[in-house]
Amino acid sequence: MSVATPALESFLHAMPKVELHCHLFGSVRKATFEDLNRRAGSPLAAQEIDGFYTRGDKPVGVLRVLRALDAMLVRGPEDLYRMAIEYLLDAAGQNVRHAEFSWNPTGTVRVSRIPYREAQDAIVRAIRDARAQFGISGRLIAAIDREAGPKAAVDMVEWVLHNRCEEVAGIGIDYREVDHPPELFEQAYALARAGGLRTTAHAGEFGMPWTNVLAALDVLKVDRIDHGYTVVDAPQFAAECAARNVLFTVVPTNSYYLRTLPPERWALDHPIRRMPALGLRIHPNTDDPTLHHVTPTETWARMVRDFGFGLDDLRSFMLNGIAGAWLPEETRERWQADWAAEFDALRARFFAGSAGPGK
Ligand SMILES: [Zn+2]
Repeated sequence: MSVATPALESFLHAMPKVELHCHLFGSVRKATFEDLNRRAGSPLAAQEIDGFYTRGDKPVGVLRVLRALDAMLVRGPEDLYRMAIEYLLDAAGQNVRHAEFSWNPTGTVRVSRIPYREAQDAIVRAIRDARAQFGISGRLIAAIDREAGPKAAVDMVEWVLHNRCEEVAGIGIDYREVDHPPELFEQAYALARAGGLRTTAHAGEFGMPWTNVLAALDVLKVDRIDHGYTVVDAPQFAAECAARNVLFTVVPTNSYYLRTLPPERWALDHPIRRMPALGLRIHPNTDDPTLHHVTPTETWARMVRDFGFGLDDLRSFMLNGIAGAWLPEETRERWQADWAAEFDALRARFFAGSAGPGK
């Protein structure tokens, strides 16, 4: 495996990208977070904020940062507008052309006390403005907070269905998977599907067993899986997922394996490295870019540097992303042809006469 080169970074920056797994609250710029904190009378000390935005030996759990936003900092729809437009501007600057990003309405409505409709309208306005100003297309995923329980999940899906809007394409589920397996949320997902919403779910994260991925697919009947790493523990089930063309939106910077695998084995034993060899369709994502200190370009670079994938693999990951995105069929087909041609032209320009990086 070769190391990353400036050509690789430039190539990955230039290549057209979709992002399918990113959380609005995990993409807040540090300066914005500090502004919101100041406005609230500085309930969080500067040191604590630095801790939120530090990635290293003693990282503050990302989930705590997200809860702080709900409880202390987000106060009105304009805050959500600002966070969404800044996220989309930053993504567009990385040549992300289509972003499907998650937001947890339950915390916004029940903790920040912003009515659902006002919150949704603000984020949708940011999506429309970003489209007009930066050319990026955006879709919102209303995500169930699994820690709030199944009843709150059904309530949330009802809010979405009562305020239908093209930009809110579907639902997801996140927060702590431990003790909150997918099957608890069957009713919320059935309601969403009956209402014509698309569906995804975080499953098989935090080392939770592959049976959670199975439950997400067979009980919740989701279109795609976020994370899903423990599928590698069950090769026969993995073969089934491959045959069903399930897309896995993976996150190279996910902290579970950073914490649990020895540093010298991390990149070698990481499930992401093994997933494509099992026939699984994967697509790399930032998840919480500002908290993980990562950009879309850097996320793709890690697929080469850390996991040894080559340009042919990256090309297939790019096409997997388009295949799994919640796009109109006509757009999907056009992008698959156009982006593949664009990828090949960039490859010729940046790696002329060489096989390029990776294996
Ligand atoms: Zn996530």
